Formats: sequence, structure tokens, C-alpha cells
Amino acid sequence: MSTLPIHEPLLRLEQALGPGSGLVLVGGAVRDRLLGRDQGDWDLATALLPDMVMARARAAGLQVIPTGLQHGTVTVMVGGRPMEITTYRGDDAYLDGRHPESVRLGVDLEEDLARRDFTVNAMALPIRALDAADWKQHLVDPFGGQDDLKARRLRAVGDPLRRFAEDGLRPLRACRFVAQLGFEVEPATAAAIPKRLEVAGKVSVERVHQELTKLLCGPAVDKGLDLLRATGLLALWLPELSPMVGCAQNRHHAFDVWGHTLEVLRCVPAEPVFRWAALLHDSGKPSTRTLGTDGEAHFFGHEARSLVLAEHILLRLRASRALLKAVQTLIRHHGMYPDHSWGDAACRRFLARLGVDGLTLEDWGRFRQADHLGKGVDSETALQHHGQVMARLQALAEAAPALSVKDLALDGKALMALANRPGGPWLGQLQGHLLETVLEDPSANAAESLRALAEDWLKS
Ligand code: ATP
Ligand code: MG
Repeated sequence: MSTLPIHEPLLRLEQALGPGSGLVLVGGAVRDRLLGRDQGDWDLATALLPDMVMARARAAGLQVIPTGLQHGTVTVMVGGRPMEITTYRGDDAYLDGRHPESVRLGVDLEEDLARRDFTVNAMALPIRALDAADWKQHLVDPFGGQDDLKARRLRAVGDPLRRFAEDGLRPLRACRFVAQLGFEVEPATAAAIPKRLEVAGKVSVERVHQELTKLLCGPAVDKGLDLLRATGLLALWLPELSPMVGCAQNRHHAFDVWGHTLEVLRCVPAEPVFRWAALLHDSGKPSTRTLGTDGEAHFFGHEARSLVLAEHILLRLRASRALLKAVQTLIRHHGMYPDHSWGDAACRRFLARLGVDGLTLEDWGRFRQADHLGKGVDSETALQHHGQVMARLQALAEAAPALSVKDLALDGKALMALANRPGGPWLGQLQGHLLETVLEDPSANAAESLRALAEDWLKS
């Protein structure tokens, strides 16, 4: 493996901390290096106590920020990069289902690794071996993390029932890693999750939201979510979504609402807005399901119901208003489909509605295409048809028709001058009337014809 730009500051840091520092890379960074995955953050651990880390780093001229001394964590700036270094530590009793009551510093590396959640996250790599050709030989791996990694398996360190009783976040992290890495969960570890739901319920909503977002953006999102469902975590945190499981659809669909949702999730871009919207877009189906006289299931008004559920769920999880709004925008427009039966004017009105909501045609198209593919029926034809619809909408959009009041050839000032009246509600009504006319016939968007139209309207 080539030397990454990060290695130089890490080696400098090790030199600054001096002999006996036992500086190692731990956790996710080691796991990801073995997987050849992009390393996100760098978790470092040392045998030195925080005071010693600070003293030695300062003596070497490095800036030190005492970020989390109570947990044994110090941040050292090396070459402009913040490096978080935690003293090897053992956790004492967990009483709140989330955090240890106190931590013990000055334990050995193996004890530090033993408090970590999964075997693949409980390996350490000494910094001095980072660039060695045989770096894998230097791994400290007391719990068989490498074997589990090779078998693509997630296994709790120690007794899963005890580990999940200590910290309710771990089961959710398991589902998140399944989604990110595509691993299986070892049976005893998976079996422990449903038995520890009460502890899982103690995790803060902010943290649940953060982990769920990571899960949703993982490449194996369908696997991660299905584990969430199978273990009871879905019913715990997103109970509104449980009725989607087993909710049968109609001849347009190969899957029930849950299966369809998993398919759509896989097909939309791996970005929070798309993934949350995919998760929630049909959440209103179970409660709006009716059977027609022909025995076919219908879901009239399900978009509106999904919008309500999305708001309820995302506000409960303390998601940002911006995320909620963007998710609702995708959901609001997902059922609408300007097919052959629509005239050009109706298509322009559709483009205007997207514009008002700040949704681009491309993003709408991405979501709509995933929704089609997720039906699991005749995907070839669906893709072809979707391509035609998009081509037509794009051609209409490229002609740059007026889609909003500000695109009109006469602005508000000109209309007030024409009417010889100050602005007021009448102006908005007149502009709405002019826009309607122009959406119907774009050639009407010229100063002269708008003036004539406005004069007629003012007289009426
Ligand atoms: P990511 O790719 O998201 O950074 P990560 O495994 O590095 O994944 P972090 O939250 O950065 O996750 O945690 C770093 C390490 O700390 C983990 O690899 C694991 O060893 C340990 N760890 C984190 N959270 C827990 C937890 N709740 N219980 C036990 N160990 C944990
Ligand atoms: Mg990490």
C-alpha cells in the first residue's frame, strides 16, 4: 500500500511522544485499512497518561488542545491536522445504558481493545509499523478481528448480551456497519439485539438520527434496514414504518410496501435527503390502502399521509428543518407523472410547481426513476418510458419558458404604472393570471401582449 499523506504527521507525532508511547492506530481506521476502504477519521491510542502526552507534545513544539481529559483524550495539532489521542482505558460499570460511570486510565492495550464494540473494530496497529511491507504482521488482534473481517462477519467483543446491556447504541451500530460494509452479523450477536431493546431505547434521538443517516447512506442499506426490522429496532425507533412490512400492493408491484421501499433506497443516490425521502415516501400507504371492486389495492392520498409521517418522524429525531423540507419536497412530487396524456401546458405547469418548491428536474427524475425500478416489474420498459418522459420535460425546460412571476416580460412596477395603482393583493392576482396565460402559451410572454391582457383584466 502506498504511503498516504497522513503518514508523515503520524510518524512525527510518534517521535514527539517518545519512547514507550505505545502509539497505535485503533478502531475504524485499522478496519478500513484492512478493507482497503477510505479511512474516515483516525483514532489513536497511547499508553501515556494525558498529562504526559501534553507535556511531550508541547516540548516538541506542537500545539495541544485538552479536548476530553475526563475520557483521557487530548488533541494535538500536527502539520495543521488535529489528531485525537486517547490514553488506553478500561470502562467501569455502565449504569445509564449508554456511558461508563468512570474510566480507568493506564490499563494495557488489550484491555482497551476489550471495551470496543465489535471484533473488527478491536484491532490496533502500531504507528511505527504503518509503512512496513509486513504491517499486517504487527497488528494487535486479541479477539480474532482479522478472521471475522475476512469472513465479512460482525461479532461482539465478549458476551453480546452483556455488551448490549452496557451500551444501547451498539445494536444500532451493528445495523449501521451491516449497511456500510455489507457484513453478516454472527448469530449470537444478532440474537442478543432483540433481548436488549430496553437499553437500546435509552439512546438519544440525536444519536439515533445520526446513526440512521449513516445506515441509510450505506451501499448495503437494504441489508442494514432489514436487520433493523428483524431485530425489533425499527419498531422501537420508527414504529410508524412497521405497518409497511407485509402491506401487499397491486399488479404494478412485485413487492410489498417494505420490499419496494428497500429497492427504491438502493436505487436513489447515497445522500441523506434522497435516502430519507426513499425510506418515507410510501409510509402513508398502509393507512390509506383500500380495495377496489376488482380486488386491486389502491392508496389514494398516500403522498399526503407520507408527508405527515415524514414530518412527525424527522421532527422527533430532531432532524434539521432543511432536511425535513427537502425530504418533503421529494415526497410531495413523487406520485405526479407527466406521461403522454399530458399536454405541453400541463407539463410546463408541472415544471413551474417543481421550481416553486426548489426541486430540480434532474433530482425529481432521479427519485422518480428509482421509484419505477423499485416496483420490480418490467424494469426495461419502465426505464425506457421514464427516459422519454425526461427527454420531453428537458426539451420543454430548455426552451426557457416563463415558469414564475419573475420571468414575466412585465414586472410588478410596470403593472402598477399601467394600472396607476400602488401595489396590493390585486397585483399578485393579476400576475397569477398572466403567468397562467403564459404557461398555456409561452408566445404570450411579450410586453405588448401582456399589457393588453392586463388592461382587459383590470377592466373586468
Ligand atoms: P466510522 O467509520 O464511522 O468512524 P468507527 O468504527 O471508527 O467507524 P467511531 O465512532 O469513530 O467508529 O469509533 C471509533 C472506535 O471506538 C470504534 O471502532 C470502536 O472500536 C470504538 N467504539 C465507538 N463507539 C463504541 C461503542 N458505542 N461501544 C464500544 N466501542 C465503541
Ligand atoms: Mg472512526
